[in-house]
Amino acid sequence: MSDDTGADGSLLRAEDLSVSYGKVAALRGVSFSVDDGEFVAVIGPNGAGKSTLCDAISGYLDYEGSIEYAGTEVRETGHVVEDGLIYCSESRNLFGNMSVANNLELGAYRRKGNVDERREFVYDLFPVLEDRKKQLARTLSGGQQQMLAIGRALMGDPRALVLDEPTIGLAPVICDDITEALAQIHDEGVSVILLEQNVTFAMDLADRVFLLENGSFAREGPPEVLEDDEYIRDAYLGG
Ligand code: ATP
Repeated sequence: MSDDTGADGSLLRAEDLSVSYGKVAALRGVSFSVDDGEFVAVIGPNGAGKSTLCDAISGYLDYEGSIEYAGTEVRETGHVVEDGLIYCSESRNLFGNMSVANNLELGAYRRKGNVDERREFVYDLFPVLEDRKKQLARTLSGGQQQMLAIGRALMGDPRALVLDEPTIGLAPVICDDITEALAQIHDEGVSVILLEQNVTFAMDLADRVFLLENGSFAREGPPEVLEDDEYIRDAYLGG
């Protein structure tokens, strides 16, 4: 694991970041930073730009402005995975016809370090994955598939874990399991960048929260402050 950080000591820093799809502006000059070991959540409704933000941070999209990860501009490296920035996308991208165990092994591709130890951590976090390690990924329930997607990301030994809407479509009881797992991952010292529509889920976990609306940040602050914000209460927390 590298100890590199940006000039201001942050692990990830976006400045005046804009992304457009043709004439559609998806991100409009957003700036934020994430410290080593910090848990930052970006909440926002459908179409706010959350997935675009994940894709840009992870090096999948061209952007204007700057995104620095571990002191290096993302567009210049083009290989953030090797430096420990691991993206768990909304679509999960599992290999449905491969076993749970083999999906996990693929997460360690291009990463060094102790794979056995990481596999053990994943199985401790999500015991159902060990119980079902020989099962094909496509035969798992939605919640188990989400656990496998997070587990596979952990096999990459993340320094920063980017999660796009991990609770989408999941039952509340499964969301509780994911909450516990993310809290434990954070306790291990991993920086987490969580993009979520599920505001209460995000607020329970994050050190700092940003509200993204229409490609710009409308609010930012610690969850205990934003929970009392009248606009957030009315629009996102049911009054
Ligand atoms: P959701 O929760 O629905 O996934 P989101 O907050 O992740 O939404 P994005 O998917 O980043 O939002 O979309 C931001 C904006 O960019 C939306 O207006 C969307 O329609 C538009 N957009 C996203 N992808 C494309 C694309 N490939 N081509 C054109 N417009 C796009």
